[in-house]
Amino acid sequence: MLIPTKDILLAAQQEKKAVAAFNVYNLETVQAAVQAAEAEERPVIIALGERYLPAVDLEGFAAMAIAIARKAAIPVALHLDHAYEKKSIVQAIRCGFTSVMYDGSKYELDENIARTKEIVELAHMADVSVEAEIGSVSRGAFSDEEEGDGRLTDPADAKRFVEETGVDFLAAAIGTVHGMYTGEPKIDLELLRQIQSSVQIPLVLHGGSGTPDAIIAQTMERGICKVNVNTEVSLAAVSHLIRFTSSTEAQHTHLSTIMADMQGTILPVMKKFVRLLARQEQT
Ligand SMILES: [Zn+2]
Repeated sequence: MLIPTKDILLAAQQEKKAVAAFNVYNLETVQAAVQAAEAEERPVIIALGERYLPAVDLEGFAAMAIAIARKAAIPVALHLDHAYEKKSIVQAIRCGFTSVMYDGSKYELDENIARTKEIVELAHMADVSVEAEIGSVSRGAFSDEEEGDGRLTDPADAKRFVEETGVDFLAAAIGTVHGMYTGEPKIDLELLRQIQSSVQIPLVLHGGSGTPDAIIAQTMERGICKVNVNTEVSLAAVSHLIRFTSSTEAQHTHLSTIMADMQGTILPVMKKFVRLLARQEQT
């Protein structure tokens, strides 16, 4: 069933669990995300990044994703990830997305607040919830995300940001990276604890890929309710395709088979994240 993102995340916050938000781009990735969540009997958020819009027809994609979500046995939300343009946010709201992320993290705090507040007012008129970011998540390996400067979130700024913008969920920069880590991950769990006590809303972890399971579990104890996953799923699909296309059978295989195999390859990776986020760990 299609459920507002806010309902899913407030329930997760109560349970001290988190929900996976998988970046999706096409039918196969949407189907895999929903199948993974159904297999684990957990909710899921399917997220489409603004950067994919030149290649993905938003209206067509939303119609397909919403139809699949409505048939699903578990709660599914539809989220616009990392939007920098008001135009894409308006379009996504018109197409039935249940939440949007406005990313004003590259601006100074005052300007980020002003821009985010405008988006929140607009989205709330349509009952659509908003995620925003302060601090900035860096880019590691294999990511197609915009480069951030790695500034960690200041808890006092977070408090002011949430109060003044009325945002529903906050992406906190605590040292995770978009993509895979190129060295040892340096995640500041104490900072996350301080952010959690400064704001009441669900917190979002960007850069789930490659983050050690034990650290993800500890972030869930400190207010993380949504974990974004993109690169690890993409890497699994790409490695599979590289292996397959170098085999002799590849040239005799129909594209439909290749796409179905790709879906089968990413399914266990997605299931692993859904399972991990459903776990309750005491630390
Ligand atoms: Zn992100």
